[in-house]
Amino acid sequence: MIVEKNPYSVKLRADKASLWKGKTPLLGALDMELTERCNNNCIHCYINLAADDLNTKKRELSTDEIKGILQEATSLGCLTVRFTGGEPLLREDFEDLYVFARTLGLRVIVFTNATLITPELTRLFAHIPPLKPVEITVYGMRESSYESVTRVSGSFEAAWRGMNLLLKRKVPFVVKGVLLPPNRGEMEEFESWASTIPTMDRPPSYSMFFDLRCRRDSQEKNRLIKGLRLSPEEAYEFFARRPEEYLREMREFCSKFTRPPQKNIFSCGAGVGGGCVDAYGNFQPCLLLRHPDTVYDLKKGSLKDALTNFFPEIRQMKAGNPDYLTRCGRCFLKGLCEQCPARSWMEHGTLDTPVDYLCEIAHAQASYLGLLEDHEMSWDIEDWRERITAFTGKESIYQGRK
Ligand code: SF4
Ligand code: SF4
Repeated sequence: MIVEKNPYSVKLRADKASLWKGKTPLLGALDMELTERCNNNCIHCYINLAADDLNTKKRELSTDEIKGILQEATSLGCLTVRFTGGEPLLREDFEDLYVFARTLGLRVIVFTNATLITPELTRLFAHIPPLKPVEITVYGMRESSYESVTRVSGSFEAAWRGMNLLLKRKVPFVVKGVLLPPNRGEMEEFESWASTIPTMDRPPSYSMFFDLRCRRDSQEKNRLIKGLRLSPEEAYEFFARRPEEYLREMREFCSKFTRPPQKNIFSCGAGVGGGCVDAYGNFQPCLLLRHPDTVYDLKKGSLKDALTNFFPEIRQMKAGNPDYLTRCGRCFLKGLCEQCPARSWMEHGTLDTPVDYLCEIAHAQASYLGLLEDHEMSWDIEDWRERITAFTGKESIYQGRK
């Protein structure tokens, strides 16, 4: 079990060591949204505010407040923090916060657009490694496509300069794509370039369903975002472009996670062993869920209280919306479908409303997988367990259960 031993420390195999003596830590990983501001202005973004929005900047948590939260997180067993935004590197105290988190022993994941990466920052990452690859979203392979997305002149060159600095210093990073009209023709080129990055051990992931504004702050931006989404047919064609891999993953997934949630609003792990602190000190059950009834003000309490008392209570909430109860509540595709309290909040301002766009995608996928016939509606299907068994070759784990 001992991997390495020296006079100061003993390194154990993570999968064998009983670090928590059989108990799961209250907090495994924490997201910290350091700012909602960003130096890009991407057409699809659900959160960005202007980089020079001074009123927003004034409301953000101070350096000491963030350090206090990180300290409490560590005391609760947290091992990983993800710094995200907006663009987290806009914070002038980013390096200070990073070193503090690493000094606490936290692994650090940084979500960034790479445009603000400097030689000093890459030196710091090389000297004190984050222990997790930096994650960079790439908006296009050419200046024209990239800047049609970011709407900031010079951002293409700045992002490539940033990534080249990381490569030069051998700082591990991975790239992710965003499928948008300006860059859809560049997918092959993107994937082939991504495969040359030494720390990319699998093809890049993509965003494509684009969430609406999480603060519900602009109908105009929401209209733009809706116009950028893939159609349901385009979405499943994308999923099925590697059919064998897709079918294998779906068989595995469907045997475990598809079943009607009935009155439950939460079918996911939001608020269990993790959560997201927003830029102003509100603790959310996950990165996306900002409904006022589901966020906890850390200035008046603690991570521990939120995880022990507040989140378990909101996870018990039951749906009251008749539309949810007759559709999602009875829908065996619930695991496959991206409808959830956060998406319901962003689209409709409630926690329990079906999201038609996601509903159409789930139905298109289910038809492709042979789980639904044309014109069938998922909430009308009585023999869903048998269908799952026929598709996966295994009994649904919900066989025999209500
Ligand atoms: S985004 Fe939705 S599905 Fe994901 S954790 Fe949050 S509430 Fe759950
Ligand atoms: S497929 Fe439709 S009915 Fe089923 S969970 Fe999604 S939104 Fe609800």
